[in-house]
Amino acid sequence: MIGSIIGDIVGSVYEFTYQNIKTKDFPLFSEQGNYTDDSILTVATADWLLHGGNIAEYYSRYGAKYPRPMGGYGGNFQLWIARSSVRGDYSPYNSCGNGSAMRVGPVGWAFDTKDETLAAAKVSAECTHNHPEGIKGAQAIALCIFMARKGFDKDTIRKEVEEQFGYDLNFTCDGIRDSYTWGGTCQDSVPQAIVAFLDGNDFEDCIRNAISIGGDSDTIGCITGSIAEAFYGVPNVIRKKALEYLLEELKKVLVEFENIYKPLIMKENNEISPFEFQKNIIEDYENVRDAQLYFSTHGRTGTLEGRTTPKNIRELKENEVFVFGSNAKGYHGGGAAAFALNHFGAVWGQGDGIQGQSYAISTMEGLIRTARNINRFIKYAHDHPEKRFYVTAIGCGIAGYTPLQIAPLFERALVLPNVFLPEIFWEYYWITGEHQPEYFTPDDSWKMWN
Ligand SMILES: [Mg+2]
Repeated sequence: MIGSIIGDIVGSVYEFTYQNIKTKDFPLFSEQGNYTDDSILTVATADWLLHGGNIAEYYSRYGAKYPRPMGGYGGNFQLWIARSSVRGDYSPYNSCGNGSAMRVGPVGWAFDTKDETLAAAKVSAECTHNHPEGIKGAQAIALCIFMARKGFDKDTIRKEVEEQFGYDLNFTCDGIRDSYTWGGTCQDSVPQAIVAFLDGNDFEDCIRNAISIGGDSDTIGCITGSIAEAFYGVPNVIRKKALEYLLEELKKVLVEFENIYKPLIMKENNEISPFEFQKNIIEDYENVRDAQLYFSTHGRTGTLEGRTTPKNIRELKENEVFVFGSNAKGYHGGGAAAFALNHFGAVWGQGDGIQGQSYAISTMEGLIRTARNINRFIKYAHDHPEKRFYVTAIGCGIAGYTPLQIAPLFERALVLPNVFLPEIFWEYYWITGEHQPEYFTPDDSWKMWN
């Protein structure tokens, strides 16, 4: 979904014929650039996928709420916003404009089958763009995203789209750059946007292709970006830059969407590791707090306090327990273990379990034993609701594991209100969207565990 928004912002300063540039050599982001109607309606689509209901109402509401975006809405769409929001007349107007394709991006991420994807793309299009070409444009793009996401190669995607929708994709960006002119319909811009993706070498290259052919540049950029994201992933530096332009309330929907429909993790040839890449997303939104509040309160945020282990714990109240990573022999020689030894009653030679106001979890004998030790800790915490346990990022220091390996092992502690987890673990839960505890209570969880 972010790919659509990036392409839109990049293209926003080249949208009209007098602004078109016919080169791939341009600054990716411009100070004059901004998100346009393409991003706004893409967010509306995501909002609909998240919350259901009549999609026409979403488009109408977003259109009315953001009435004058950069670039503006298409004239007929503007009239439709007016009559739908003023008179409640949502009837479609037989458009084949490329608006149906530019806003469909999130649909490509939200379903597990081709049929569901195509059906939802049709619904998203036909509430305004019920002309066959309008529906076809949206479906073709949703299918490209779906296939890219599922790991199909470009030749297969090209063939499938040509066969299913009858588009001629047998041309290149270089081949049309000089002759292609502005066109605001699906049939005038959807095949070009797909080819800009097919011709590209990476996410940025695809976007540059899309802008370099001219035409409705923000929309072609948006469409190409939506596919390229699903195929390549998005470099974090580009993502971060784009987010600077986006309104907070639109960003919020993006975050909610990505939390459920996970964005593609970068392919291995990129220097950013998957976890780092995702972690940076969270830094962008400062969403760790929301995540831990969400999990801590079974989805009822705002009613209970969050459960993040404080940083740099130096002292403890009577009922508080410092949980640290240890080795089986209990040589508490360094890091958190040494601190526990010196301040919180950890016992030299005791590698596991409660000791004073600390609890050792041995992490140095492989992941399976670590998992067992963690389970023993969780049982202990469950049996001692009067105590509050501050779990540090055990196993992620000398033991050499990553939060990706350790955090899931604490899944059953998510429902225990007296277990606090380190920020990095909450990040993991937020990123994956898995281990959601809202469907069971602490006792149910406990039964599952036993
Ligand atoms: Mg636009």
